[in-house]
Amino acid sequence: MKIAVVGTGYVGLVTGTSLAMLEHEVFCIGRDKEKINAINKGKALFYEPGLENILKKLTKKNLLIATDNLSESVQNAQAVIIAVGTPTVENKIDLSAIKKVTEQIGSALKNVKRYQVVVVKSTVVPGTTEKVILPILEKYSEKKIGEFGLCMNPEFLREGNAVEDALRPDRIVIGQYDVKSGKTLAALYSKIKSPIVFTNLQTAELVKYTANSLLATLISFSNEIARIAEGIQGIDVSDVWRGVHLDFRLSPIVGNRRIHPGILHYILSGCGYGGSCFPKDTKALAHFVNTLGIESPILRGVISTNNSQPQRMIGLLTSCMEHIAGKRIAVLGLSFKPNTDDLRDSPALTLIELLKKDGATVICHDPMAYKETVPLELKGLGVVLAETVQEALHDADACMLVTAWDVYKKLTPSIFKDNMKTPFLIDGRRIYNKKTFVTAGILYKGIGLSSI
Ligand code: NAD
Repeated sequence: MKIAVVGTGYVGLVTGTSLAMLEHEVFCIGRDKEKINAINKGKALFYEPGLENILKKLTKKNLLIATDNLSESVQNAQAVIIAVGTPTVENKIDLSAIKKVTEQIGSALKNVKRYQVVVVKSTVVPGTTEKVILPILEKYSEKKIGEFGLCMNPEFLREGNAVEDALRPDRIVIGQYDVKSGKTLAALYSKIKSPIVFTNLQTAELVKYTANSLLATLISFSNEIARIAEGIQGIDVSDVWRGVHLDFRLSPIVGNRRIHPGILHYILSGCGYGGSCFPKDTKALAHFVNTLGIESPILRGVISTNNSQPQRMIGLLTSCMEHIAGKRIAVLGLSFKPNTDDLRDSPALTLIELLKKDGATVICHDPMAYKETVPLELKGLGVVLAETVQEALHDADACMLVTAWDVYKKLTPSIFKDNMKTPFLIDGRRIYNKKTFVTAGILYKGIGLSSI
């Protein structure tokens, strides 16, 4: 099948790549000529394990072509996938980019005689596909729905694991305007052996928000438990989670082996969630349900707990440091999670802002975030970007661990002792063994560690 994917960000490029691997002819539509040229040379625009290797092979064989010619690509395609950003502005979903490309897609559909299906992959609040996207498509194409198809097909890829997730998804949710639309989209995925859930458009939209909000809720709940642990003498929340995780319902025994499902990664305490999805999607959903006159106290609590996690890290710092002003603080990890260079809404950024506001000198390290270019988010922060962990720790008064990269998990107490002015470590992800570090002479503080 010929497919046009509009948007060459994380979702657009990964979707285009995986569909090309399934032997579809894919056109990835972007706006920036430089980026388009880079993609056509097989260059991924962001760090995602495995993506660049595959992209190189596909572009060499012309199975994936990046272009800025939306009109021609859409006219030639049997399916048009919309994967542009839907950010949250002042807590409300901003549909301006998706509306704009929908107008362009509608105009391109106008003179096409064949049946084509338009697929919304961007995350949008319930009702958007039917009440916003459909009228625009009908207006600009001068066609009626039925002459073209419409689906809402939420994306569940996880950054850092995106290629694998796109090729072998746990499920495919197809919100269909009508059966013909759904069947046309399902044919696109016929080589993937994952279960397909067919729904109406608005259910598919809510599935996506529910999936993200559930995971965000687990994280904020775990962080609330950490606060309770911090307030009671002698408790380490890591022990609490070990005791909880071994519940057979959370980690069952299958064939004599204890299974540790991925969900357990979300039932752990840390310095908060970030990234391009959880923060914006929880806020957009809370705002949306409010406009319906529906209360969402849990969702609001989830957001509020998460917003205050960076301040909790500062609290751990000031519990052992009278003044932050003039102190040299090392921050390990900038991306919102390991295996990605995505800094969007990373708790590290809020933490750094708080440290700078209090007058600290901040030296950061991240294995990926500024490897090729320094992202805008970092340029504005006024921090020093270290090339190595040692450089970040050199002469530091304290070190704050924010992202659980594997390279940090391997650090031993000696690197902190040998390089820092005072070996004061705040473990925002609880990746270190407290006993080992304390015995080695490190002043060790962590999220969920009793302060009494
Ligand atoms: P992104 O910011 O990485 O990419 C968005 C892309 O859309 C950019 O390349 C931008 O240039 C492009 N774009 C915007 N307006 C355009 C236009 N007029 N013409 C052509 N291109 C245009 O965003 P993303 O992370 O890929 O997310 C896209 C959507 O997928 C969002 O709705 C997001 O919520 C959802 N989503 C993201 C993830 C994720 O992990 N990143 C996972 C699931 C769903």
